[in-house]
Order: sequence, then C-alpha cells, then structure tokens
Amino acid sequence: MKKKLKIAIQKSGRLYEDSIKLLKDCGIEINTGIEQLKATALNFPIEIFFLRDDDIPKYLEDGVADIGMIGKNIFLEKRKKIIIKEFLGFGKCRLSIAIPKSMKYKKINDLNNKRIATSYPVLVKKFLKKNNIIAEIHEISGAVEIAPGIGLGDCICDLVNNGSTLFMNGLKEVQTILESEAVLASHPILNTIQEELMNKLLFRIRAVKKAKNNKYILLNAPNEKLEKIISFLPAMKSPTILPLAHHGWSSVNSVIDENDFWNIIEKLKKNGAEGIIILPIEKMIL
Ligand code: AMP
Repeated sequence: MKKKLKIAIQKSGRLYEDSIKLLKDCGIEINTGIEQLKATALNFPIEIFFLRDDDIPKYLEDGVADIGMIGKNIFLEKRKKIIIKEFLGFGKCRLSIAIPKSMKYKKINDLNNKRIATSYPVLVKKFLKKNNIIAEIHEISGAVEIAPGIGLGDCICDLVNNGSTLFMNGLKEVQTILESEAVLASHPILNTIQEELMNKLLFRIRAVKKAKNNKYILLNAPNEKLEKIISFLPAMKSPTILPLAHHGWSSVNSVIDENDFWNIIEKLKKNGAEGIIILPIEKMIL
C-alpha cells in the first residue's frame, strides 16, 4: 500500500501561490525550487505534483494523484469522476459573458446568433441551453479577452476577478454564469492510508480557514453593561471576563466572525465598550 498522499497543485498561475501558502499554513514544509515538477514535504507524508490545472481532474480520475487543488470552474468544465472535499476560500472569481462596449445588450436573448469565444465550452453550452439561446461557441485556450478585437468572436465568456483585463480590452461584463473559487478535489475512492492522510490534511485546512474567518477581540467594558456586551460576542463557548484594576470595569476576551465584524464593533461601542483591540488568529480548533 502507498504510504504517501499525492497532491496535485497548479504549476503556475492564479492558484499557485495561495495553494502553496495554504499547505504552509497547515504546517507542511515544502522545498519549492524553480522548474520543479514534484516535491516532497519534509514533515508530512505528502508528495506534491505541480501540474497544469486543466490536467488535474484527469490525473485525479486516473489515480495519478489522490487529491488536488483546482478551481471549481475547472472541476465543473472537465466533468471527471472526482469529488469536491472542501471549498478553500481563495481563487475567487466569476465565469462571465463579456461583450465589446459598442455591442447592444439589454437581456440574455441578445446573445442569440452571436459567436462566443471561450475556454469553457461545456459550461457555456449548458448556460445557453438553460436559457434557450442559440449561439455559436468558439473554443480557444487562452488570451480569450482579445478574441473580439481580432475577429474571433462577437463576445467572450471568461474568468473575471477584478475586471481590469476586460476593461483594458474594451469589454464589459454582462452576465455571470458561475461563481468560482479553489476547491480540494479527490479521487472518489482512496485506500485507507490515503483517506486517513487526506482527513488529517482536511482537519488542518479547516482550522486554518476557521482562523481566517475569525478575529480575537479584547475590550474593556463597564460592569453594568457586561451582559449586553456579551450577548454580541457568542465566542467559542463563552467570553473570558477578567476584572480590571479600575473599579467597576472588566476586560472581555472573545472571538468574532470576520463577516460580521463592523456590525458587532458598532454595537459594542454603542454599549460603552472601550479600548477595543482586534488580533488575527493563526489556527482555530473547535
Ligand atoms: P482580472 O483582470 O482580475 O478580472 O482577471 C482576469 C484574468 O485572470 C483572466 O485572464 C482570467 O482568466 C484570469 N483569472 C482571474 N481569476 C482567476 C482564477 N481564480 N483562476 C484562474 N484564472 C483567473
């Protein structure tokens, strides 16, 4: 039986750095030399393959790698027999239809009879079918944004992050067909050792993700407002409360959700909280 878990990550491109960072945040030390196609972790039984993200689903299906970090867009486009184990929270983008600024567009039906250049023919076809649109798909493998400018299509369907590439090419986004982010995908059947190693890695990934979504908060509160203030801070079990040397005041330590951050801070201030300090959390295990 194999003793190492084989993980495929993108060789270069948008997901590369965040994939490596996530492994490092999980405490996995890797030697990432330039032009290296394979690396072994120094302190975890894992082998890392650096591959083209387009190829990773097939390698997972064939069992060449056990797990891989890929965009949800690639996962859905390639339609291989693999499964998503975890959403990773980075590489967020949308797959959108974009048109030249001069093209008339009011509703989806305006895409009828247009030529759409894309690297995602499967997803575009599905979208067109769902919306009863008859359009021609031109599959191209890269630099999709320049297609309308060189006559390769009337419009495009491509990944958009902040939209600056579209803007630079005189295009505007008109319709999102998919919201995407990086996912951890795996072959559907792993042997016991690989499954165990994957679960160990997943445990670490979840602790890193949880920590990223939460902040540690310290504040001072007048004792008569403590009950109200605590009600805004659900914490892990309950907040820590320590008396201050200053009579009638307490220090409150807790954890707050990043998404609700400003909302909670406003409520705390309104109820007399002072000296609020927010700190990042490195790992969080519940
Ligand atoms: P932007 O200019 O930030 O909208 O990025 C657009 C360009 O980056 C396009 O060429 C996309 O194909 C590529 N891109 C953006 N986000 C991602 C992502 N999460 N994964 C892969 N490629 C992406």
